[in-house]
Amino acid sequence: MDLNQMTIAQLLDPKGFDCACGCHHDTMLRHAVIQSGALAQLPEIIHCLGARKPFIVCDRNTYRAAGQRVEAMIGEMQLPYTLYCFPTDQIIEPDEFAVGQAVFSYDPTCDLIVAVGGGVINDVCKILAKAVSRQTIIVGTAPSMDGFVSNSASMVWGGVKSTIYTPCPVAVIADIDIMRQAPMRMLQAGLGDMLAKYVSICEWRISNVVNGEYYCPQIAALMRSAVEKIVQAASGLAQRDPLAVQRVVEGLVLSGIAMSFARVSRPASGLEHYFSHIFDMYTLEHHTPGSLHGIQVGIGTVLTLGIYEKLICQRPDREKALAHARNFDHAGWEAQMRRMFGKTAENVIEIERKAGKNDVVKHAARLERILETWPQLVQIMREELPSQAFVRELLVSTGAPVTPAQIGIDRSEVRDALMASREIRDKYIASSLLWDLGVLDEYADALVAELA
Ligand SMILES: [Zn+2]
Ligand SMILES: [Zn+2]
Repeated sequence: MDLNQMTIAQLLDPKGFDCACGCHHDTMLRHAVIQSGALAQLPEIIHCLGARKPFIVCDRNTYRAAGQRVEAMIGEMQLPYTLYCFPTDQIIEPDEFAVGQAVFSYDPTCDLIVAVGGGVINDVCKILAKAVSRQTIIVGTAPSMDGFVSNSASMVWGGVKSTIYTPCPVAVIADIDIMRQAPMRMLQAGLGDMLAKYVSICEWRISNVVNGEYYCPQIAALMRSAVEKIVQAASGLAQRDPLAVQRVVEGLVLSGIAMSFARVSRPASGLEHYFSHIFDMYTLEHHTPGSLHGIQVGIGTVLTLGIYEKLICQRPDREKALAHARNFDHAGWEAQMRRMFGKTAENVIEIERKAGKNDVVKHAARLERILETWPQLVQIMREELPSQAFVRELLVSTGAPVTPAQIGIDRSEVRDALMASREIRDKYIASSLLWDLGVLDEYADALVAELA
């Protein structure tokens, strides 16, 4: 078995795959149509799923982009349907209010949800689908992130950015003719979300070596080749070249499949995503408008690659690392978290209470492992990561922003974000490694000095 040699259709085999990593890999996704004119296959997929009455969800923009055609096609199938269109031209907030609007409007005689849109409509429909126990088809209108076919929704719950696990959609229809007309920021965001995979695979391998965390080489290879194809086609993105858009969409769908296969987000997210999550938390705390996930992730990837370029040359110092953990100011740390995260801080502090990653005994054990395997860790970084300049130029070639200042994030916020990135989930990433080496503060200072 070689996942990397399979087509997307082959990867969707309902039987799944017994892998040499010891896991059985499968996904709930059954249909993925990614091509020019893909929307024409909607009736066949609805028929195949045996649905009798679809519930169509869109907003005003996505109704214009694809929703009205979806409505017409379902009408032509002589199927009854109910349509709910969010009454706004803005991007909706993925929160309780949006889910409430969808639930209040839901017609319980419907037996299938057809979500027409990008990230937010998709996330809201995943929660709706879970609440009403229905299957979902995604008709994508913008290739802005890799959550199309993942088994989680990124939602704001009680003012806090949360990941909520849901069933994965059963079908995705990505019509390249529609996708390539999406706002350019969304195309750039899709690229940003895919370039992150260089880092995520690197950090997955690092944690496998340092912590013995589960890792699957087959899934990693699948992601590498998806990123490679995108990089080759990226220069056409600014001109909305259909092949470039197709490659990005395929990569985003593959990324969702890889996360389903791994049952964790490791194949698709690392430190760069934590920068983005923390930027989102600032936005929520300060009630300011945020940027698209993939745009933030692209900037996070540039920042992260700069950090790794230094880390590759780092000489670990056992005494310094031990002293740093011994002298760590736990009360000061809690105060810092409260200053940074406001009402979210208690969740962050709770994560550390459960994980105990700042515990000196646990730290010492990890440090020994790091010192022992340092040449191997450096080798992994060299194998997996492109240069910062390469990724920056790729993003610039599409017109995407590449610095935090371009999206209104100031230097002190970037410093805080790096410091806190190891706190918001119990996941071992670059900042965890830097903390273990006792150099996280130095790296945070160097990072903001470079932004000057
Ligand atoms: Zn595997
Ligand atoms: Zn992402």
